[in-house]
Amino acid sequence: MDTLMHVKIWGSADAADAVEQELFRLDKLLSVTGESSDVFLLNRGRRAQLSDEAAELLRSAIALSRRTDGAFDPTVYPLVQLWGFTEGTQRVPAQDELQAALDNIGIENIEQDGNAVTLKNGAQLDFGGIAKGYAAEKCAALLQTAGVEAALLSLGGNVQTVGTKPDGSQWAVGIADPAQPAQAIATLRFTGSLALVTSGGYQRYFEEDGVRYHHILDPETGMPAQSGLASVTVLAESGTLADALSTALFVMGLDAAAQFWRSSDDFEAIFITDDGQIFATQGAAVLLGDCEFQEISR
Ligand code: AMP
Ligand code: MG
Repeated sequence: MDTLMHVKIWGSADAADAVEQELFRLDKLLSVTGESSDVFLLNRGRRAQLSDEAAELLRSAIALSRRTDGAFDPTVYPLVQLWGFTEGTQRVPAQDELQAALDNIGIENIEQDGNAVTLKNGAQLDFGGIAKGYAAEKCAALLQTAGVEAALLSLGGNVQTVGTKPDGSQWAVGIADPAQPAQAIATLRFTGSLALVTSGGYQRYFEEDGVRYHHILDPETGMPAQSGLASVTVLAESGTLADALSTALFVMGLDAAAQFWRSSDDFEAIFITDDGQIFATQGAAVLLGDCEFQEISR
């Protein structure tokens, strides 16, 4: 998944091996560039019979795209390629190139009948905005089944806790300061299993003529989303949900994201604005230690 992953397990080393194998298996299945992955074969052939698992993830991705009114869009790959974010040279595309790609994206271009999927109009799938959260969720389930006491997974910006540490102490998960990503701007403390997924403009970007272009694209404009947010962290039981929503809320911006949260009951979120202010929804606010933030209420 083109990122650094850390896995810490309180339990047997066999469980650690099982997680490693599971991560490689999912990478092979879902990677947009891996030449034998379901996604790659579908993008190349326009039509493919997906595995049960990829078909199920696609159904979730389509549902989350609808729910977020297209802010999360699993068909953005033509745009991602234009910008050169997964392969090739990173560059600012011309307006007509962007427009051509924009004409091709959107979930209305996906036809899914069970495991049989057809892509229309040149749309191409990219699970980059959801795969790490899905992988974290799968690994958490695997670890729970294996009976480990506790585990902490960090899959490139996606954190998943499992259980509670044997000494009963709380998990402490830092949120990177977008201005200095090696440092935490805030810390969340809690016990038990939780997915915490951060999407940030600082995570992957390039610069051209002094302007920074990051990898989270606004499916309306084709440009890196400029919503006034520097990062969004979503907390949820489901890693898949948290991952799709972190990307979507980043695209929406603070006001629309807060409104979206008010009409939902399955996640909490922390927003860092471009000028470094921290906003936390009620359920996230209670987990934040002493840092200055503003609470978003129902
Ligand atoms: P994340 O880091 O989870 O926010 O996902 C960003 C990755 O998802 C990018 O590197 C792209 O591969 C893909 N992506 C970019 N913009 C979007 C979007 N609006 N919806 C879905 N996936 C996206
Ligand atoms: Mg995401």
